[in-house]
Amino acid sequence: MESASQAFNLPAHTREDIQVLAGLVLEDVGWRFGTLPTVTVSDRFTRYRLGTAWGLERRINIYWKPMALWASTAVEDVIRHELAHVLATQRGYFGHHGEPWREACVELGALPRADADQRMRLDYAATNSGEHRANE
Ligand SMILES: [Zn+2]
Repeated sequence: MESASQAFNLPAHTREDIQVLAGLVLEDVGWRFGTLPTVTVSDRFTRYRLGTAWGLERRINIYWKPMALWASTAVEDVIRHELAHVLATQRGYFGHHGEPWREACVELGALPRADADQRMRLDYAATNSGEHRANE
């Protein structure tokens, strides 16, 4: 029997999906900027934080729970966004969403927009259901 999400053709990601997706993104990017970044996926629920990057450690963390119902392309953008922070830091940029970060976004295929965060939050608000929250 089809699940509700299959019936409506909606993605419902799991923690494992996000980890696999991160691997695919790294493959697609063809990371050629030294040591491959480490990607962790946190089970912690955060309403406003979708990812964190530690540029010097070459590590990103993705909070998958707020994105469980997002389209894969939107989740992918979050992963690329965080990887762009790593790349920009590796190039000596210690700001947040400035020009060096935007350049890294273009190279890695992320939306080079600081307001992408805001857009994602709105997407989240639009797709997050009471049921999803009740599962916390
Ligand atoms: Zn950012």
